[in-house]
Order: sequence, then structure tokens, then C-alpha cells
Amino acid sequence: MAGLVRPVLAANWKMNLGPSAATTFFEAYLARYAPRDDRTVILFPSAIALAAARASARARPDLRFGVQNIHSAEKGAFTGETSAAMASDAGARFVLVGHSERRHVFGETDAQTAEKVRRAAAHGLVAVLCVGEKIEEREQGQTDAVVIRQLRAALAGLEPSAIAEVVVAYEPVWAIGTGRTATPEDASAAHQAIRSELRALGGAASDAIPILYGGSVTASNAAALLAAPGVDGLLVGGASLDPESWAAISNA
Ligand code: PEP
Repeated sequence: MAGLVRPVLAANWKMNLGPSAATTFFEAYLARYAPRDDRTVILFPSAIALAAARASARARPDLRFGVQNIHSAEKGAFTGETSAAMASDAGARFVLVGHSERRHVFGETDAQTAEKVRRAAAHGLVAVLCVGEKIEEREQGQTDAVVIRQLRAALAGLEPSAIAEVVVAYEPVWAIGTGRTATPEDASAAHQAIRSELRALGGAASDAIPILYGGSVTASNAAALLAAPGVDGLLVGGASLDPESWAAISNA
């Protein structure tokens, strides 16, 4: 997405930190992370904690907010779901799409992921499109093929100007929440494959797309991953729940 200062550091809280815990989190985090114009920080609280998180950070317009999921339909009888319009109305500017837990725990398909990318764009939400291979796919040398398939499925048919408005996160499934981080070399290799596919799909405008790495990022390995060629930022789950460790990663 154009206009996002890199590195882009994104916190995925998953199903953790409700409204009260989010408020407590920001009391500690804001004291440890001062606004910086050399990076972009985005937080993805649960939808139910978004309002409390935004209120706690109201003095900090440098911090951006998103939701972890939207439904692909515009509205209707989908009990428990959140629409793109509602997320936008609640102050979200970003949405995670195609996260490995959505794909592999909730069974979302490439086609549903593609619909969500389009629905997000229709409501002015920036889709953070997550792609990544399972361990058996890596072991069979299929990493590039998997991420290319996922990118094509989610983005093919979109105008280059629309493609340029997404953010991509490379999140190898075997690295998410496992403590097994990709090496900076492995991350670089996958990011290179993603970058060239984005070029093929979206032309030169796609250079505006930051490609984040996600998977067991910690305060200790963040700097090395950020230094890897082609890594434009980080998407962080577990280590973003603690304000001290998230502040260290925000400042990495
Ligand atoms: C994630 O959920 O996107 C993620 C990368 O999780 P973790 O940092 O805990 O591996």
C-alpha cells in the first residue's frame, strides 16, 4: 500500500486481550513507544476490543488499527460475523485476510480469501493478505509454488491500482506460534518469490506493497529479520501481547 512508511510493524492479538486488558496494555505500551516517523505500527485487536484500544490510543494518531477478519458478504444473516462496513465504521483501516488460522483452522478457501480482499477494498480497508506454506509443502520444495498460487487466487483479475493497495504478509504455517522462526535467508527467498509474482500480477505499481514476515517473531530476532533483504516489516502474534516486548519490536 502506498504511503506506509517501512518497516511496517503489525500486532495480531488473535483471541487475546479484551477491552479491559487492551486498556491496560496501552497504558504500558504508550510509555515505551514514542511516535516515530521512520516506521508504521498497526494493531489488530479483537473486534470487540477495537473501540477500547482506539480510545486508549486517542492521543496517538501515529498508531493504526485493523480487524482480524471480515465476512465476505456485504451484510445479512451471518450470526457472529463482522462486515467490512462495520469494521470501517468502528475505525478499522486494515484487515487481516487469509491468515493461516482462518485457512487451516476455519477452513477458508482461496476463493473466500479473494472475496474478502475485494470486499475490504470496496469499503476502503487495506487487506493484509497472508500467504504461506505448510511444513510438508516446504519439505517437498513447494514453498514458492504455494505462495504464488495463494497470491494469484487472491489478486488475479484486480486492476494493478487495486493490487497496489494491499499489504502482503509471508507467514509460513510451520513458524506461526511454534517458536520455530524462519531464518532471515529463508524469509528473503520467499519474499523474493512473492515480490516477483506481485510484479507479474500488478506491474511496477506493486512495488508500493510492503511484504511483511510473520512467524514466531520476538524482540530478540526482530532486528535480524528486518535486516533481511526484501523484508519490509513484521506481523507478530504472541510477542505483541506483552507491551514491553511489543514496544521493543516497534522500536527494532
Ligand atoms: C500470527 O499470528 O500472525 C503470528 C505470526 O503469530 P506468532 O508471532 O505468535 O507466531
